Amino acid sequence: MSTHLYSVVVPDATVDEGFELAPRVIEWLLAEGVAVGPARRAFAIQQNDQPFVELCREDPAVRFEPGPGLARWVESPSSVSQTTEIEIRIGRRIHADPGSWPPDLASCPKGHQAPPPDGWVDAVEQWANIGSALLTCAVCATPSSIMDWSFGREFGFGALAITFRDPPGIADALVEKIGQLVDPHRVQLLYQRL
Ligand SMILES: [Zn+2]
Repeated sequence: MSTHLYSVVVPDATVDEGFELAPRVIEWLLAEGVAVGPARRAFAIQQNDQPFVELCREDPAVRFEPGPGLARWVESPSSVSQTTEIEIRIGRRIHADPGSWPPDLASCPKGHQAPPPDGWVDAVEQWANIGSALLTCAVCATPSSIMDWSFGREFGFGALAITFRDPPGIADALVEKIGQLVDPHRVQLLYQRL
């Protein structure tokens, strides 16, 4: 059986910003009952952001079980099961659906849609290594930060990702809510089937 991952990523956040933003998201997930446990980390977050940040530096991901509040934020509330897992991961990471590689289309920040331009793989690799890279649009010839490009729903990247494993769909409202929590950064919903 395949695994379905829905990830809300913050493409324009740096790793340091990921450490600042993650506690805001986790506090809300726990307060809303979307996520529950593990107690040790939940306690650390409630007491003070600092212990959480320290825990994350040891292992830049925390995982939670789904809580009763998750049903309010998915497409099919009656189908929430305990196989759903919620992971918050900090660190530069590329999210690519194996069945949709390479992506058919890329959009530059001005909205020109075309097949990914020459050099896009190198630019993604450079972003993964140092956190910044430029990509030049084949349509408007403008170089811009690869973090401002879009490669569709099945390819993206970010230094902060909130991933739901096997949820019964993710409601748009949840993506919007996470976007509010990390404002002024933008968020993108990505999908992978593994
Ligand atoms: Zn363009």
